[in-house]
Amino acid sequence: MNSSSTIVSKDSSGGSASNQASPPLSRYESQKRRDWNTFGQYLKNQRPPVSLSQCHCNHVLEFLRYLDQFGKTKVHLHGCVFFGQPDPPAPCTCPLRQAWGSLDALIGRLRAAYEEHGGSPETNPFGNGAIRVYLREVKDSQAKARGIPYKKKKKKKRINHPLKAHDELLIKNPKQPA
Ligand SMILES: [Zn+2]
Repeated sequence: MNSSSTIVSKDSSGGSASNQASPPLSRYESQKRRDWNTFGQYLKNQRPPVSLSQCHCNHVLEFLRYLDQFGKTKVHLHGCVFFGQPDPPAPCTCPLRQAWGSLDALIGRLRAAYEEHGGSPETNPFGNGAIRVYLREVKDSQAKARGIPYKKKKKKKRINHPLKAHDELLIKNPKQPA
């Protein structure tokens, strides 16, 4: 017998409490939970704080823009010489953004989480048409800016384990400056 330790907080809401002995969370599920917490925190930090029932698609759009500051995808501005180049030869000062694919996946997870937390599908702000429009705009503008419309990215050359690479470096350059 496996005594599964449940860290899962009990949901008092929602009619069907069918999954009592829940298996360990999948990557998707734990990511969804993290996203949901992040979004909840974001709403709380608004002035005045926004409750979930007040939340509508504008809050979601603001949330998506807010997330851009943590993005890791270079999106060239129109004035940049590398605009439209998939592989710029030099760095530039264009901002980093959230890749539209990450945002798209995020919205999918939050949309599901909203309904799991008792939200009704009819009022689900994540399913709002305005979000879809926004995501499509982000997708199009990023595709243009980066010059990679719908082409698959080539797989990056795999690098050996960092430790190994480091060892090789040591072998190649045995004389280390003290
Ligand atoms: Zn640029």
